[in-house]
Amino acid sequence: MSAARDPFAPPALGEPYLLTPGPLTTAREVKQAMLRDWGSWDGDFRALTARLRQDLLALIGDADGAFTCVPMQGSGTFCVEAMLGTLVPREGKVLVLANGAYGKRAAETLRRIGRGVTVIDTGDYLPPRGEDVSAALAADPALTHVFAVHCETSSGILNPVAEISRAAYAAGCRLLVDSMSAFGAVPAALSDFRYDALVSSANKCIEGVPGFGFVFARRSDLAAAKGRCHSLSLDLAAQWETLETSGQWRFTPPTHAVAAFLKALEIHAAEGGVAGRGARYMRNRDVLVDGMRTAGFETLLPDRWLSPIIVTFFSPADPAFRFPRFYELMKQKGFIIYPGKLTQTESFRLGCIGRMDERVMRRVVAAACDCLAEMGVRSAAPAPEALAQRVALAA
Ligand SMILES: *Cc1c(COP(=O)(O)O)cnc(C)c1O
Repeated sequence: MSAARDPFAPPALGEPYLLTPGPLTTAREVKQAMLRDWGSWDGDFRALTARLRQDLLALIGDADGAFTCVPMQGSGTFCVEAMLGTLVPREGKVLVLANGAYGKRAAETLRRIGRGVTVIDTGDYLPPRGEDVSAALAADPALTHVFAVHCETSSGILNPVAEISRAAYAAGCRLLVDSMSAFGAVPAALSDFRYDALVSSANKCIEGVPGFGFVFARRSDLAAAKGRCHSLSLDLAAQWETLETSGQWRFTPPTHAVAAFLKALEIHAAEGGVAGRGARYMRNRDVLVDGMRTAGFETLLPDRWLSPIIVTFFSPADPAFRFPRFYELMKQKGFIIYPGKLTQTESFRLGCIGRMDERVMRRVVAAACDCLAEMGVRSAAPAPEALAQRVALAA
């Protein structure tokens, strides 16, 4: 009898771990599931699509059967645009809660497609709070929807979606959620917080490969949205209608990515679903953050707002530290890291998601320390101005 293979072993000889929030490191079985070609119109592939929709819907616990799951080709942004263009009426107006790139992108999308938008921009690292949402909705009765980002991947902040949801519905508005980087590892069932639509994609916490995303929405809203979308290809209502009537996607589906995703869903279930996956990511995050702090690095966010998805670290102030060099050295040691996305301060990000466990995270910390030594960086401490930001947040 051979010993069971370590499911978190390095992807393959010479292939680095991706410490990025998607595409991410996937299981070998997920990659192997792509070694077959599927006819998109064939009954076998239609059965895959049906299972995909059904298994995803089960993850939000739609007890009343009011919701459906509509997959859409493209990256996550395509699906956000499909959701907004299809579900927000032409005369609708959306309160967008932005604290990073993805909230800003949603606002830009709404402007492009001619929907009304008001933005609450809390900057790089402050969460939008329920009371701010209540005040904004009270001040403008034209607002019909609230758009929130669940985990804002730009900083790694886990936004307080439950209080945002309460504020939205108390004011008679509907909540649309970008749960791209949270769904599958952070609770997002209908019993966790109320929403009318939620979007995620294949290559984040379910640990599939890129190629499509999916929107959970009410059947009644999709039925009412017929002909509304600004875009032919991103029309979620038309995609839904075709899926319901023929079992097919409207245009060429990413067949291999769908087959891989079903394997990823099986692995997700075997790991204990959202709770099991979330627990592993939290351990990854805790080991990473503890180790990096011990080495002298500082996180952008205080513990309360850290997500189990991705963590932003301030770049060391030591002049010997240069991010491009750090990136190359980390890559040589087997880890692809992620540049920061803050507007104000130098930073970098390390993802906790993908086929990795805490043992891998310990090696990440050791590699980061080795890189500093090789660069001649004496201290990993950030500039005092950077830290002042964080103190302001904690207050
Ligand atoms: C990944 C992500 C998206 C989508 O990005 P794409 O590059 O289009 O896949 C949207 N919102 C959030 C919060 C994300 O993390």
